Amino acid sequence: MPDELIVDRLSQNLKRLHLPRIQAVLLDVVQAAQDESRSYLQVLDTLLEEEVVCKEQRRLDTTLKISGLPYIKTLDEFDYSFQPGLDRQQIQSLFDLTFLGRHDNVLFLGPPGVGKTHLATALAVKCCQAGKTICYTTMADLIEKLKVDHHAGRAGKGRRYLTASLVVVDEVGYTPIGREECHLFYRFVAARYEKASTVITSNKAFSDWAELFHDPVIVTAILDRLLHHSIVVNIRGHSYRLRGKIAQEAPETEKRGKA
Ligand code: ADP
Ligand code: MG
Repeated sequence: MPDELIVDRLSQNLKRLHLPRIQAVLLDVVQAAQDESRSYLQVLDTLLEEEVVCKEQRRLDTTLKISGLPYIKTLDEFDYSFQPGLDRQQIQSLFDLTFLGRHDNVLFLGPPGVGKTHLATALAVKCCQAGKTICYTTMADLIEKLKVDHHAGRAGKGRRYLTASLVVVDEVGYTPIGREECHLFYRFVAARYEKASTVITSNKAFSDWAELFHDPVIVTAILDRLLHHSIVVNIRGHSYRLRGKIAQEAPETEKRGKA
């Protein structure tokens, strides 16, 4: 059979089998194999590897797109030198993802701008790269979703915020939580307890949660389940957002100190 006909048939079959990457690189790979005297096995291996890498990248892109993450950040982009008080070993070991297998929760606590969302997001991206399902939501959005599902009688069944291997609930503490909302959040925490990991970020210390949730009994039950199997990371440093300003203000402060 002439080469053109073979290429035509290959093209049709690759389309039918949904192997677009092989289709795109086929002729180049074959040409390179001829030039470099590579074996049939090597050619097949190269083609399949190309397709697998491409498929994995597409899965990652789609999962990240629907995850709701506010931005994509990685641990490599996190500057430890800006938070010298942070236990680097503790953070590094979080990113080996063994906490996921134990269904441990991770809580990042600290004032605004210290990198809570950055670290939570980086952790979610790492989970996604490891083939896990993720879901990001702010506390305010989660409460809205829980309310809508509750009033629609769906009780959240099959919802990503319940089923994902890792759910990030960002910004607990920015909005006060009413009585009904408190119960809905408790049910959310209880549903994931010992089944899957939840990452929480908060600008409030646990001692302030009772005030935030308006119901000391429920808040104890929530914290009990959240903290039973958990890793708590306290970040006590300065806001990264204000780093330029702090540097500019430093001489002024020093001057005042000397006076
Ligand atoms: P918050 O603690 O309020 O959630 P963020 O994680 O959103 O703060 O951080 C605010 C901004 O500063 C983000 O763009 C984040 O990527 C960046 N940032 C915070 N801490 C660091 C850090 N140590 N190294 C690099 N970037 C950081
Ligand atoms: Mg944040």
